[in-house]
Amino acid sequence: MNILLLGSGGREHALAWKLSQSKNISKLFVAPGNAGTALIAENVLISTTDFVSIKEFCLKACIDMVVVGPEDPLVLGIYDFFKEDKELCTIPVLGPSKLGAQLEGSKEFAKKFLIENNIPTARYSSFTKETFLQGKAYLETLNPPYVLKADGLAAGKGVLILDNLDEAKIELEKMLLESKFGQASSKVVIEEFLSGIELSCFVLTDGKNYKILPTAKDYKRIGEGDTGLNTGGMGAISPVPFADEVFMNKVEKNIVIPTVNGLREANIEYKGFIFIGLIKVGNEPYVIEYNVRMGDPETEVVIPRIKTDLLDLFTAVAHQNLDSITLEIETKLAATVMVVSGGYPNEYQNNMLITGLESIENSIVFHAGTKASNQEIFTNGGRVLAVTSYGNSIEEATKKSYQNIEKLHFDKMYYRKDIGLDLL
Ligand code: ATP
Repeated sequence: MNILLLGSGGREHALAWKLSQSKNISKLFVAPGNAGTALIAENVLISTTDFVSIKEFCLKACIDMVVVGPEDPLVLGIYDFFKEDKELCTIPVLGPSKLGAQLEGSKEFAKKFLIENNIPTARYSSFTKETFLQGKAYLETLNPPYVLKADGLAAGKGVLILDNLDEAKIELEKMLLESKFGQASSKVVIEEFLSGIELSCFVLTDGKNYKILPTAKDYKRIGEGDTGLNTGGMGAISPVPFADEVFMNKVEKNIVIPTVNGLREANIEYKGFIFIGLIKVGNEPYVIEYNVRMGDPETEVVIPRIKTDLLDLFTAVAHQNLDSITLEIETKLAATVMVVSGGYPNEYQNNMLITGLESIENSIVFHAGTKASNQEIFTNGGRVLAVTSYGNSIEEATKKSYQNIEKLHFDKMYYRKDIGLDLL
């Protein structure tokens, strides 16, 4: 099969790495890809949201399936674009329909879906410019901290958690009346604060059947001890030790099954990954958010633990017979540590020469922000490389990643040295 994978991060390198091992792969293309995907697939210089160029390429390269890494093309409706096009409608797109992608594209849509399907989540209400005063009054009914969420996509920055009521009112005003997050905050979800530990659960569904993939925990902040600014993610561990069988049975019964059934009952086409951001409150799982694609860097620990042929899984999703496949999971755990450009998530410089890649042993290096030039590899983004290792324990896996990171070098390279420490 000829596959086109959209995206250019560590997530896409991990997906490409696994797809390239599939027995049925003929040709794997990644658009636009990075220096890592170029080693195992053919990079194509097309933006993930340029549907017209994607169409042209799919027809020219006889693509049999499109796998979508990031959320933007999904929220913009790439699934429907293919389905409604006479020439493309036979090419399956791995992902949700435009309506399904609203689970990530609109926090209000997601909250409504959760409540309608009796899925445990924080109590909420949503407000617009017109109902700003009611929003202020609603804040007064809650206890601190106050959780304010821009309804639309805001590059992971649209959620504010505030300890002080007056501050929360001011921020609500900025979001609704002063477009703090542009169009994304023309509607704001205010919700009750949940106190607990977070983890991510990943599901692959064909719209009827589902497979629960390994859990993962990511490390969002730039600084050790989870301090400092939020990032796209500085590392991840899979599986999550506190997500034991009893807890995961609750996740399946109270969250995964009602999610898949809820989508089907609402006639929302969904053939792809569901990333469920969970919080464990006491011993009970609650949903914080849905994403309609895999996480990054969680993919870099989840995908390496899937032993089943990934293309077989995707083909079964397209044919809606996911129930015919047995999901085999690696019993060893996996840890990934993100190596980033100094300055990230604020300003940083690109084009730093990366050395040491050839001396990596017993780890897998997934490229994120990299590019190749004259046989050499340079930094090309905030998050540069994800170094993933297997182990029988978190210590063993993280130690391997850290030993290998010491062999890598680029100017102003930075990484967190405490990935997984909190789980020991
Ligand atoms: P991401 O960048 O992960 O996509 P997002 O911007 O889509 O995030 P959420 O995941 O909804 O937004 O919220 C971001 C973070 O805020 C969560 O990971 C969690 O730590 C915190 N958070 C969100 N809602 C709540 C809540 N109700 N109670 C406690 N913490 C919350």
